[in-house]
Amino acid sequence: MQNVLAYLGENEPRFVRELCDYLRFPSVSAQSHHRSEVEAAARWLVDHCQSIGLDAQLRPTDGNPVVVAQTPRPASASSHRRRHFLLYGHYDVQPAEPLDLWKSPPFEPRIEGRSLFARGACDNKGQHFAHLKAVEAYLKTNTELPCDLTFVVEGEEEVGSKSLAPFLRKNRNELRCDATVISDTGIPDLKHPALTYALRGICAMEVKVHGPSRDLHSGICGGSVDNPALALCQLLARLRDKNGRITIPGFYDDVIPLSAYERKQLARIPFNEAAYRKFLGVPKLFGERGYTPQEQRTARPTIEINGLTSGYQGEGSKTIIPAWASAKLTFRLVPNQKPQRIHKVVAKHLKRLCPPTVRITIEGGHGGEPYLVPPTGPLAQAALRSLKSAFGCEPVLLREGGSIPIISDFKKILGVDALMLGLALPDDNPHSPNEKFSLDAFAKGMRMSALLWQELAST
Ligand SMILES: [Zn+2]
Repeated sequence: MQNVLAYLGENEPRFVRELCDYLRFPSVSAQSHHRSEVEAAARWLVDHCQSIGLDAQLRPTDGNPVVVAQTPRPASASSHRRRHFLLYGHYDVQPAEPLDLWKSPPFEPRIEGRSLFARGACDNKGQHFAHLKAVEAYLKTNTELPCDLTFVVEGEEEVGSKSLAPFLRKNRNELRCDATVISDTGIPDLKHPALTYALRGICAMEVKVHGPSRDLHSGICGGSVDNPALALCQLLARLRDKNGRITIPGFYDDVIPLSAYERKQLARIPFNEAAYRKFLGVPKLFGERGYTPQEQRTARPTIEINGLTSGYQGEGSKTIIPAWASAKLTFRLVPNQKPQRIHKVVAKHLKRLCPPTVRITIEGGHGGEPYLVPPTGPLAQAALRSLKSAFGCEPVLLREGGSIPIISDFKKILGVDALMLGLALPDDNPHSPNEKFSLDAFAKGMRMSALLWQELAST
């Protein structure tokens, strides 16, 4: 291993130059005039993978091609099956606009101090490039890799990964593996490297309350007929109590409670309540009583009204009783809640509460399953050990409040867990002007990757 780590240290300046070459491709998947550059970035990556000794191919899909690169499989068919891990990344990037907010052109990489500025620097070219360089270090120093690796780098992540699930299904046998590793999340800072082990899911719906057959004169009819906007507000107000707890019967039934270990780990994440409040611009924080803000926004289920519509909203006044009112709702879900079941219990409860003076309809929107890798399990613990040695400090366990749909695809199609080992810092500006990637995170990420294969192979 000393050879591998020394190689990473000695060649770092060249790695940064190569990453800059990769970043010069404006591989913006959302903009059709960049199509040829998207393809050129993929081809460059295939060539680069081949140059470091990987067996790499450009695989067509109905959308942008997927780059698949495998480490050379040992010739001697050993009696015991070698472990196989899959590394996922994406070579497409977000649009760079608005261009005038960039301090330097987004596709002309610029280094300032230990930061590399370019569109795609942290999201996601720099992050999967760190893994590629770790593998290069094994191959170029003739150090035996303790497991087989396959890189799957797609070109449609920023536009919804439409071709990824069909691709995984079609190549299920070839991609059969023990786990996937994904570096596309963040860390609080370089002193707190992190494993993201849980994501929230979502259940969306639209609730509509129907009243009179048309808007009515509020002077002529008001008082004798229910107001759908008020009825809807009263219904919604009953869904959460003053302690921030959701009052829908059965809503919390499937929630896996946070363990003492998890709560202890989550408490180690640096957090400044006053700074957070200021960042949000609110007079006071609000959340479910009994949980810290960190737990509330990542590890507890929530209800949100995303949109509320009824009646007249134009200039001046219009004295009516509106014919209807509607609300778009989402529930963020935690392991092991199921979107379909949540939709059912919410709809049942709303229908039971709805007064006979109005009629209610509830339509389902999109749903997404929450996700969890057991943090005390062998995979997570192996990842934590590699983070600790690479960064030289105790890593933290993170939960993410949003969802990453591709993680569920890997789980559903390949049946394996994903280790989310992100390298992005909070001020890296992914999707924003002046996106950057920390060269320290890059260097430590390469070491982490090199150590990770040793740790994972021995699980
Ligand atoms: Zn992105």
